[in-house]
Amino acid sequence: MAAEFLSPASRPGPVTGETPVIGLGREREVLTVALQAARHVVLEGPPGTGKSTLLRAIARDLGQAVVFVEGNAELTPARLIGQYDPAQVLTEGSAIRGVAIGGDGGGLRCRSVIICSGGFAGNRDMVLEQAPRLRSLPRLLSGGSPHAVGAGHRLLAAAGAAFTCLDHIWVYPNGTPDPCDPRGERGLGIRGLAGEIWLNADGRRFHDEGLNGGRSGTAALLAQPGQTCWCVFGETQLESLLLIDNEYFGTPAGPHPEAMARFWAESRYAWRAEGPEQLAAAAGLPPDAVRASVDEFNAAIRAGLDRDLQTGRDLRGLAPLEGPLAAIQYFPMAQKNFGGVRTDLDCRVLDESGEVISGLFAAGEVAGMAGGCINGRSALEGTMFGPCLYSGRVAGIAAAAVVGALR
Ligand SMILES: Cc1cc2nc3c(=O)[nH]c(=O)nc-3n(C[C@H](O)[C@H](O)[C@H](O)COP(=O)(O)OP(=O)(O)OC[C@H]3O[C@@H](n4cnc5c(N)ncnc54)[C@H](O)[C@@H]3O)c2cc1C
Repeated sequence: MAAEFLSPASRPGPVTGETPVIGLGREREVLTVALQAARHVVLEGPPGTGKSTLLRAIARDLGQAVVFVEGNAELTPARLIGQYDPAQVLTEGSAIRGVAIGGDGGGLRCRSVIICSGGFAGNRDMVLEQAPRLRSLPRLLSGGSPHAVGAGHRLLAAAGAAFTCLDHIWVYPNGTPDPCDPRGERGLGIRGLAGEIWLNADGRRFHDEGLNGGRSGTAALLAQPGQTCWCVFGETQLESLLLIDNEYFGTPAGPHPEAMARFWAESRYAWRAEGPEQLAAAAGLPPDAVRASVDEFNAAIRAGLDRDLQTGRDLRGLAPLEGPLAAIQYFPMAQKNFGGVRTDLDCRVLDESGEVISGLFAAGEVAGMAGGCINGRSALEGTMFGPCLYSGRVAGIAAAAVVGALR
C-alpha cells in the first residue's frame, strides 16, 4: 500500500494549461477545490485506477510537490488516516449539542450526531465481557477492523442509550494469529482457497470444508480437540490466498506480495513442506494420519466422485493435493457484531425506557446493522453490509432533517 500527499513545499509555480487525465473529471474537481480550501481528502481505490496519475497531474498544474509514503505493518491506511475519539456526547438538557474531545472543553458543536463507528469484534476484552460463552475457548482471536473496538458503544452508553443482543457475535472458524500483533490476540481471516482440507489434531478431516462460514464451519471447529484445526492446501493455491482483517497484508482488491512473504516467514502457525509427512512433522501433527487423510481425499477426486463419502463435500472442479503443500492453523475468530444500540425506524437512538434521545442517531454495525439487531444470531453474506449502508442513508436524512427543523 502507498499514500501520496500533495505538499505545499517547493512550489516551482503553476504550469499553463491542464495536464490531461482521461476520465476522473469529478475527482479532479473535488481534489482541486479541497486543495485550495486546505482540506484533507482520502482517495481510495484498487491499484491501477489512476489515483497517482490524477494527483501528479493536479500537482503539476498547481506547481506543488507530491510526497510518496510507502505503507507497512506499522503504517496502515487506517493509521495514516488516524483516530478521532470523542470523549462524550455533549447534551444541553435532553438535547444533543455535539461531541467533546479531550478534557479541555474542545469539541464539535452540532445539533445532531450520528454514531457509525462499526462493531466491537476487534476488542477481545469487550467480546468476552459481552459473550461469556466464548470465555471457555482456549484461544479466541479478534477479527474485523482493527478500529472495531467499541468506541461508539462507549459514547452511546454514556449518553444513556439502550443496547440489545450484544452477545450475538459472529465467530468464524478460519482465523490465524496475526504475526504483526505481539500480544497474539488479533487474527487474520483466511480467504481465497479452493480444494483445501481441514485436519484436526488427530490428522483427520471432520467437516465439509466448502461450508466454512460462521454457522456450520465454526460449530464443527468448536467440536474438535483444542477448538483448533489445520487447513492444508497445495502451494499452487498460494497466489489466490488472501489474508484479511489487517490492511497491511492486502484487501479484497489483492494481496501485498512482500507482506505475504513476511507472513510465511514470521507466522508460527503457517508451514510449507514437500509433502504430507514433512508438513505434518513441521506442524506437529501425526504424519501417518495426515498422509491417510490426503490420500483418501485425492482418491475420491481421482475416482470422479461428485461428493466425498466422508463429509459430503462437493468435489467437482477440485484438484488432488499433490506436490508441495502448505498448512495454516485455524482458531475461532470474532468478526462481526449482530447486536448493538437500539434505534427507531429513523435511526434515532432510544434510551432504556424506549424514549428517543433527541439529536442522537446510530447506523451500521454499532446499531446491530440497523435498529439494534436485525440478524438475530445468524446471517448470510449481504445481510450485514446492505442494512449498514441503508441505515446510514436513513440516519443521514433524519439527522439533516433535525438540523433543518431547528433552523
Ligand atoms: C472481513 C469482513 C467481511 C465481511 N463480509 C461481509 C459480507 O460478505 N457481506 C455482508 O453483508 N457483510 C459483511 N461484513 C460485515 C459488514 O461489512 C460490516 O458489518 C459493515 O461494513 C459495517 O459497516 P459500518 O459502517 O457500520 O462499520 P465499519 O465499516 O466498521 O466502519 C466504521 C468506521 O468507523 C471508524 N472508526 C471507529 N472508531 C473510530 C474512531 N474512534 N475514530 C475514527 N474512526 C473510527 C472505523 O475506522 C471504520 O472506518 C464483513 C465484515 C468483515 C470484517
